[in-house]
Amino acid sequence: MKENDLLDKLTHGKITSDEANDICGDVLSDTSQTTPAHEILGLSQKEWTAYAHGADFKDVADWRQHGWPDRCFVCGGKIDSDNFGWLAREFGGKIQLKHIVCPKAGKT
Ligand SMILES: [Zn+2]
Repeated sequence: MKENDLLDKLTHGKITSDEANDICGDVLSDTSQTTPAHEILGLSQKEWTAYAHGADFKDVADWRQHGWPDRCFVCGGKIDSDNFGWLAREFGGKIQLKHIVCPKAGKT
């Protein structure tokens, strides 16, 4: 485990969601940092991307532990979260993934 693994701490109840947001805020406001914020926080590129789209750290921590969504909530088609091409958006009261270029978009 990395020294400052935000999601791991969240998963194991060592910090709350609010504390995770505070820690992230501190890292982002520290302009002297040359290391990317997500690396300091122990997030992968895709975890950070989902957070940037509006997912909570708790959502991302849950995905890390239990697996990422692999279906687009718009068209139901497959999404390989490792390959990007998706957006994390709230749908049906929770954060889910949709294609950036969804085959079904605009056809309804
Ligand atoms: Zn889709």
